[in-house]
Amino acid sequence: MIPLGEARSFVLDACAPMASRAVPIDDAVGCVAAASVVATEPVPPFVNSSMDGYALRASDSGGASGPERPARLEVVGTVMAGTPLRTGLGPGQAARIMTGAPLPPGADAVCMLEECRAEADGSVVLIDRPIRDGTFVRRVGQDVGVGDTVLEAGAAITAGHVGVLANQGLTEVEVHPRPQIGILSTGDELVAGPGPLPPGKIRDANRHTLLALVRREGWEAVDLGVVGDDEATLGRILGNAAARCDLIVTSGGVSVGDHDVVKTVLEQRSGGTMRWMQVAIRPAKPFAFGMLAGSGTPVFGLPGNPVSAMVSFELFVRPAGRLLSGHRTLGRAVVPATAEGAFERRADGKTHFHRCLVRLDDRGSWWVRPMDGQESHQLLTMAESNALAVLPDGDGIPSGDLVEVMLTDPGRVGTEMATGGCSLR
Ligand code: AMP
Ligand code: MG
Repeated sequence: MIPLGEARSFVLDACAPMASRAVPIDDAVGCVAAASVVATEPVPPFVNSSMDGYALRASDSGGASGPERPARLEVVGTVMAGTPLRTGLGPGQAARIMTGAPLPPGADAVCMLEECRAEADGSVVLIDRPIRDGTFVRRVGQDVGVGDTVLEAGAAITAGHVGVLANQGLTEVEVHPRPQIGILSTGDELVAGPGPLPPGKIRDANRHTLLALVRREGWEAVDLGVVGDDEATLGRILGNAAARCDLIVTSGGVSVGDHDVVKTVLEQRSGGTMRWMQVAIRPAKPFAFGMLAGSGTPVFGLPGNPVSAMVSFELFVRPAGRLLSGHRTLGRAVVPATAEGAFERRADGKTHFHRCLVRLDDRGSWWVRPMDGQESHQLLTMAESNALAVLPDGDGIPSGDLVEVMLTDPGRVGTEMATGGCSLR
C-alpha cells in the first residue's frame, strides 16, 4: 500500500492547467481567470443620485431649521434615469430626480423624497433641515476607478465578477476552459437503462454518479457509455475519447483480483505510464492512473464499488480537474467537528473515510454524526451524507472527541442548518 499523499502527487504531477481561451462572459461563471482585467471605464460613469428625491445645491438648504422655517426651492424639472436634464440648477432651484439619474450641473446633493414636501402643483419643494454637500450622490468611479484591477488572474469568476466585466463593456473574458471529462463504466455484469435485470447482472450506477459529480463542478461531462469484456470496443472508445476529452475516468476492473480487459487495454494504450496502486485508504483502495500514449490524456481507473468510485473521484479526479481548470486550491475544506456518536473502526494501516452528517450550530461550532452502512457498495448512505469523516489508522473516535471532517457537499451543510432549526447568523 502507498500513502494517499503519494498517490495524489503522482496524479497531480502529471496534470497542468489547460491553455487559456476567451469565452463569453455569460459562460464564464465558475471558471478561473487566466489574465487580470484592468478597468478602462469608471463605474459609475457619471455623477448620479442614489435616492428618489430632489437634486439641489446644498448651500441653498443651509438656512432650513424645521417645518416652521424650511428652505423653499423652485422645482425646474424632472431627471429620469437615462435622460440628463438639459439645463443646470441656478441658486434656489431644485429638480425632481430618480435613483440612478444624472445629477444636473450645479446640483451637489439630493434630499430623499421622504424628507421633503412638494407644494401646490409641485413647482416648489420644502426642505426642513440643511442637506450636506454630497448627500445621496454617487461619485464617478466610486465603485471602480480607471486602472483598478477588477479581476485577478487565478480568481474563480463569481456572478458578481460577470456583472463587473459587463460594466466594463466586455463581452468576453480570458479563462482556463472547463475540462471535458469522459466517464466510462466497465464490467460484464453491467446493464444500462430500464428493463428487468437478467440473472447475475447489476445496473450501472457509477456512470451516472460520476457524470453528476463532473457536472456539479461546472465541467463538461462526456458520457462514454458502458463497455463489457471486449478489448476491441474498449480500445475504440478510449481512442475516440482521447480526441474529445481532457481527462478520462473509468470505473471497475482495477482491483488486484481483476482480470478485466480494462487492465490489458489501458496497459497497451498508456505507453507504460499506467500505475496500478493500492492506496492506504478505505474505501477506494485500488486505483490506477496514467496517460494515454499520443494524446497524453490523463486516465483514471476508479474502483467499481459505487462508494469507492465516488470517494476516489473526490480524492483524485476532483483535485486533478481543478488543476486543469486553473484553480489554485485543489482540496476540500476540512473542519474539526465534535463527534455526536462513536466513529468505529479497526486498525488496518489505512485512513478511513466515513460517510457522515455534519452541521454548524448557531454558535459557529461544527458537529458530526456517524451513519450506519459504511460498506463500499452502500450507495444510499453516500447519497444522504454531506461529508466524509477522516479517521486516522487506529481504533476509531469516541463520541465527544474531535474528528476531522471533509466537507464534500458544502451546499448541503447549509440545508442541514436551515432544516435543523439553527439560526443563520
Ligand atoms: P470491480 O472494481 O470491477 O472489482 O467491481 C467492484 C464491485 O463494484 C463489484 O461488485 C461490481 O459489480 C461493482 N461495480 C462495478 N462497476 C459498477 C457500476 N458501474 N455500477 C455499479 N456497480 C459497479
Ligand atoms: Mg469488475
